[in-house]
Amino acid sequence: MQTINASIITIGDELLIGQTIDTNSAYIAQELNKIGIWMRRRVAVGDVYNDIWKALDEEGSHSQIVIITGGLGPTADDITKPLLCNYFGGTLVVNEKVLAHVKHLFEVVFRRPGPILERNLKQAEVPDVCTVLFNERGTAPGMLFTKPNAAPDAPPTLFFSLPGVPHEMKGLMNKEVIPAILKAFHMPAIVHRTSVTFGQGESMIAEMLKDFEAGLPDTVKLAYLPNYGIVKLRLTGRGNTTDEANQLVEPLFQQLQELVKESLVSNHDEGLESVVGNILLKKGKTMGTAESCTGGYIAHLITSRRGSSAYYKGSVISYANEIKEHLLGVSPQTLTTAGAVSEETVQQMVKGALSELNTDYALVTSGIMGPDGGSDEKPVGTVWVAAGTRLPDGNLHIETLQLHLRFDRMRNISMTANHALNFLRKFILRY
Ligand code: AMP
Ligand code: MG
Repeated sequence: MQTINASIITIGDELLIGQTIDTNSAYIAQELNKIGIWMRRRVAVGDVYNDIWKALDEEGSHSQIVIITGGLGPTADDITKPLLCNYFGGTLVVNEKVLAHVKHLFEVVFRRPGPILERNLKQAEVPDVCTVLFNERGTAPGMLFTKPNAAPDAPPTLFFSLPGVPHEMKGLMNKEVIPAILKAFHMPAIVHRTSVTFGQGESMIAEMLKDFEAGLPDTVKLAYLPNYGIVKLRLTGRGNTTDEANQLVEPLFQQLQELVKESLVSNHDEGLESVVGNILLKKGKTMGTAESCTGGYIAHLITSRRGSSAYYKGSVISYANEIKEHLLGVSPQTLTTAGAVSEETVQQMVKGALSELNTDYALVTSGIMGPDGGSDEKPVGTVWVAAGTRLPDGNLHIETLQLHLRFDRMRNISMTANHALNFLRKFILRY
């Protein structure tokens, strides 16, 4: 099967010095990868004429698709457009549709007082040798240039120039770039299937999947995507048709799930908050949280998912001891003797959360996230998690989990959230 290579060139001094993080490349690479394009190289250059020119020469020599972002703004440092115009041998001309759009944005949408600046009107000038990719979301249009290939039957190389603003770039990728690529090249059908596992490191999983991986055909690839205790396993298969790719991947995906069943959490690409949400929806039950060390982060994860109001009621962010005591009813005695980070405290927090939030399940956390606040007895990374529910016989049932994390503050918080959600997932499946 034919391989189509792509390169990404990101332009901007701010990217080189790390002031702006290059999120565009990751997005573009993922979108191209989804339709089966092989990423050959990602290059970052400053707003420097010769460097951009050289990058175009070089990437155009080995990739059939080159995607360029940045340098299309109205300021003097942005030189991509005149440069591309010279590179492809054109002249700048006003595009009436883009001009009307720029005027509409300034007059109606942004409502900027006074006449539109000359530099903003210039956004509507485009090289006469490109196809304009209309940018609904902003003033700088995208551009498509084609360069004939030296080999006689090979399709021309496509150069897409997109604005740097991520929101605008994404709009153009989906509406213009992907459809243009699918039209220009005969792409294989691509199928992705993802398993989500939790609690086992990627090396351990790789060890378990050694033979499986070695036996995969050339047309199927396995990717490991680890993130805060989660390891996603993605199988990607190629075929001439979607049916063919599905038939190839499906039995392998079943086999993969069987091999990792001990740590399998989902057979879709989703987070733990979504897995927990789906179980609650199915059971018709509700939950709430009381968060000390995670400070509402678990609540944020849960409520970032649409439809979460059907099962999630709310949270008490009981960061200070007085909140644990006054809003959740944790006894001052426990807080003094066992401490805020203790099994007794999280047990009492669960009890308080269940009655105050009036939910079927409660999930609580209390821990030391660092970098300060640790002791010999309770070092940084000591965390207690508890989940609870009222059983049909009316009795309260609470289970606890202790974690020993060893990361920086933000990572400790994310790890705690995922461990807690996974703990609740298992709890809900049993009670
Ligand atoms: P420009 O098209 O160079 O005027 O860029 C417009 C805005 O998009 C600037 O604020 C940049 O910081 C931002 N930007 C440019 N390139 C990227 C990139 N690769 N990733 C994320 N943001 C970017
Ligand atoms: Mg720039």
